[in-house]
This record gives sequence, structure tokens and C-alpha cells, in this order.
Amino acid sequence: MAIKATTKIYGIFGHPVSHSLSPVMHNSAFAALGLDCAYLAFDVAPKEIGKAAQAVKTLGIKGINITIPHKESIIPHLDEIASDAEIMGAVNTVRNDDGRLTGCNTDVGGFLMAVEEELGIKPGGSSVLLVGAGGAARAVMSAFCMNGAERICIANRTYDKALKLASEFGKQFKNIRIEPAALDDSRVIKARLAEADILVNSSSAGMEDEETIELPLDVLKGTACVYDLVYKPRETRLVKEARRLGHRASGGLGMLLYQGALSFEIWTGVKAPVEVMRKAIE
Ligand code: NAP
Repeated sequence: MAIKATTKIYGIFGHPVSHSLSPVMHNSAFAALGLDCAYLAFDVAPKEIGKAAQAVKTLGIKGINITIPHKESIIPHLDEIASDAEIMGAVNTVRNDDGRLTGCNTDVGGFLMAVEEELGIKPGGSSVLLVGAGGAARAVMSAFCMNGAERICIANRTYDKALKLASEFGKQFKNIRIEPAALDDSRVIKARLAEADILVNSSSAGMEDEETIELPLDVLKGTACVYDLVYKPRETRLVKEARRLGHRASGGLGMLLYQGALSFEIWTGVKAPVEVMRKAIE
């Protein structure tokens, strides 16, 4: 679609951002629906996020996705925060209504839609082993805590980060058993894995060129599922091993797709063409 004087601009702020699949995903969706819109990637240095937020207003950019490292630092520059983004303490989608910026978080909804569609998982009453305690872990924690999980163990390479995340969510969700663990504490990890209904990897371990996590998957219950937020490669070693042992397991492309679809709908008010978007990122 040709860019014209009337074209509405959307985009993503990140640093780095050149690897992002969001431009191809959203531009395919705009083209499929014949919308006069375009989506660009903007590499915004950490200290410039305030100016970039101001530019959204000044230039009349209609909507922006926010990725690493700006998901938390954008918040003071917004006019309003939706409740899910507030609980999570992170924003990945900003909507501009005539100069008023609202921050939302579609990572939570995207994760829930992906695990339900791909693994048939609903968080209510579940026991979870969550690996990782970074930004993505916050989305997974919010998804399970806001939807009635029973027990969550956060296992991280750096124990103190797991402790901090567990105590932050523990204060907000007192009826859920949330405990931290060190990823190399094999006794605790084995015990929590054996009880888990779902194992989620939200760490970057297993990404291309990164070392993978070694977990004793053979102790998982037969009905347990595995979700790996990593989507490059499409089938991580963790997913491959879980499938080999007969578990339902999935990589993170579905979460990426659905968080994008939800952002698209927040911005345009139009139902996202999910299959077009899926094809674009695949
Ligand atoms: P982040 O904030 O930088 O956190 C990274 C986490 O990974 C930390 O907990 C870190 O542990 C852990 N980690 C890194 N390397 C590790 C290793 N070799 N072994 C064990 N743990 C390791 O990053 P993030 O935003 O949470 O993103 C994490 C991953 O999720 C990335 O691969 C990202 O692409 C993916 N993600 C996917 C989606 C999706 O839509 N599918 C959405 C968001 C993120 P320490 O605390 O010890 O450093």
C-alpha cells in the first residue's frame, strides 16, 4: 500500500529493534484489510524515551508498541495506565487519543490466548514452575496470578531476582503460594517440577546462540505441559525434549502473534486478521 499524506503511523520503540517481527506482522495486517496505515521500527536510546513519548503526541503517531528496554521507563511519560499494565508494572502498547497517551499490556492476554489455544491450559487452580524473573516473567506471573493459579515457583539463575519478583506478587496476591528458587537448586526444582501442571520458560536461555536450561523433565506428570516463550528457534531444545517425552509443548510464536493481534485491535477497533499475521511472522 502506498504511503500518502493521510497515512496513519504506528510503530515500535526498542533498543535494539532491528530484529523485531512486529513491522512485518502489522504491515501485513494493514495491507490485508486495506487500511491506510503503516508501522515502523524506531531505535530509541534509553535516555531518550521521554522525548520519544512526547514525539508520539507531537507527530500524531496513533499507536506504539514498547519493547526492551523501555517497558517500565515509558510509564511516567504516559497520561493513563490500564489496570493490567499497572499490576504488571510494564507497558507494551500505547494508544494515542488526540494527544492523550494510554499504556496497556497485551503480553498477558497474548500469553493466555497462546497457552489456551496451543496447550489447552487454563490457569485456574494450576501449579506452575516458571523459569526466569525478567520482564517476560512479569507478564506470565500476571497472567497466572490474575486468573487464579494455586501455586507458582519462580526459578531464576540469579536467586535475588526471583525473590524480588515473588515478594512483589506475593504482596498483591496473598491467596496464591508464590515461592522463589535458585535455578541450580536441583532438589527444589525437581520437587516443583514433579508437582507442576505447566512448566514455563520465560528466560532467554535456549535462544539462538544462548545456552539452554537443563531440567529433569522426566519427573513431570504425564499431563503436564511446557510453554517456552523463546521463539527463535521455532522448536527450542526444551520444547523438543518435552515432546519427545510425550508432553504437549509449544514455543513462543503464538504469544508474539496474539499480543500483536490485541495491540492491533486496541489501536484500530477492527478485528485483527490473525491468520495473515501468523503467516507473516512464520
Ligand atoms: P530479560 O528481562 O532480559 O530477562 C532475562 C531472563 O533470562 C532473566 O531471568 C535471566 O536470568 C534469564 N537468563 C538469561 N540467560 C540465561 C541462561 N543462560 N540461563 C538461565 N537463565 C538465563 O528478558 P525478557 O524480556 O524477560 O525476555 C526473556 C525471553 O522471553 C527472551 O528470549 C524473549 O525473546 C522472550 N519473550 C518472548 C515473548 C513472546 O511473545 N513469545 C515476549 C516477551 C519475551 P538472570 O536474572 O540470572 O540474568
